[in-house]
Amino acid sequence: MHMEKNPAIPDAAAGPAVYRQYARQWLHANLPAHMRSDSVDYRTPTLDECRQWEQSMYEAGLAGMTWPKVYGGRGLTLREHLVVNKEVGALAMPESVSSIGKELAGPIIQAVGTEEQKQCFLHCILSMRHFWCQGFSEPDAGSDLARLRTKAVPEGDSWRINGQKIWTSGAAKAHYCLLLTRTGTVADKHRGLLMFAVPMDTPGIRVVPIKSIDGKDSFAEVFFDNVVVPDSARLGAPDDGWNAAIRVLSIERATNRMYRAWRFECELRQLVAACKSDPELSKLLDDGYTQRRIGDVVGEIDALKGLVERTVDQMTAGDKIGARGSLTKLYWSECHQAFAGLALSLVSHVNVRSSALAQRARKHFTHAYLFARAETIYAGTSEVQMDIIAQRIMNLPTEL
Ligand SMILES: Cc1cc2nc3c(=O)[nH]c(=O)nc-3n(C[C@H](O)[C@H](O)[C@H](O)COP(=O)(O)OP(=O)(O)OC[C@H]3O[C@@H](n4cnc5c(N)ncnc54)[C@H](O)[C@@H]3O)c2cc1C
Repeated sequence: MHMEKNPAIPDAAAGPAVYRQYARQWLHANLPAHMRSDSVDYRTPTLDECRQWEQSMYEAGLAGMTWPKVYGGRGLTLREHLVVNKEVGALAMPESVSSIGKELAGPIIQAVGTEEQKQCFLHCILSMRHFWCQGFSEPDAGSDLARLRTKAVPEGDSWRINGQKIWTSGAAKAHYCLLLTRTGTVADKHRGLLMFAVPMDTPGIRVVPIKSIDGKDSFAEVFFDNVVVPDSARLGAPDDGWNAAIRVLSIERATNRMYRAWRFECELRQLVAACKSDPELSKLLDDGYTQRRIGDVVGEIDALKGLVERTVDQMTAGDKIGARGSLTKLYWSECHQAFAGLALSLVSHVNVRSSALAQRARKHFTHAYLFARAETIYAGTSEVQMDIIAQRIMNLPTEL
């Protein structure tokens, strides 16, 4: 079927249904086969290929949906953001290489940044000129962020920063770090925290990559040794860093990569198609136990879709999402980890005689399985999400 490569971008009044149709058409017509992980032509895209792809999505009106037009956004609602995400999820395209910028730094800059900061950063994030990383976790402060020690000391019109961050995703490629620091003492806990937008080429910053279980070095330790930044790098008021950090975490848990349920569904279709493409593997699908596990996954994905839709309804109605973000985070990470386990158990039967689609699926799902181990850790572990749900949604007492 012929698809128009450059259909006209719908205007704001067109509504979500029209935007969805537009997004579907554009993505199908423009995503190259070698970037589709369910295609036998797939090859791991380079960072620059991913950057260019996301830049073209932005130019096609498929990024910054809810951001104000004045900062390069589309000025639309969370509904249009969701419909674009559904279409993004339904295609096996690469994960965003700039989700920390687009989904964490961008929103917090809009919430607490000065006008100058908004002008300086927001358009560069959307147009893929700047990558960001998130410098929150430290060796002794992960789940309990209030124990962080990286110190920011005022010096005239500047701040001097010393300390260490860890597990900083994308630090090696980032232009800026959304950095959480302490201005007082560790005993102040969540008081006396301050957030900065720190250029990663500032003298005194050292990035040491860490290799993860999937063989990639996508995160790093970041050392700050007498790093001096101007006061204009401060995001929000001194002492307001905790509120800003909680806001970032709530976005990270509730709305970041909103396409996940649709992406999991796409992966499930890929898994089943790969099994059906091969006589040996297709026999596995006849097994009642496998069928029940697949049925389970379908149910979980559907429930996750419902959670996401409800989050969007609540946010559109003006409600703050707060602790409910933990429910979504817990659900998608556990759901995907269980699915990745099922997928690995099926593709582990792939051998050199298996179909090309099955070989591709083995590579994809081996990587998915390894990465899914991290999904119940980053953005807050499952145990921590369960505590938050118990204490802040069910109002149960805090454990002594
Ligand atoms: C792939 C990946 C990418 C990441 N990217 C980033 C990033 O870009 N920026 C960033 O700042 N951080 C990042 N992180 C760090 C991540 O946020 C932390 O690993 C996470 O918050 C857990 O902290 P921790 O590793 O210090 O573990 P700890 O907090 O030491 O937890 C250890 C164990 O104790 C449990 N535990 C801790 N406290 C409680 C409690 N109160 N109740 C019950 N159980 C508890 C935890 O569930 C866990 O099982 C990333 C992590 C991973 C795996």
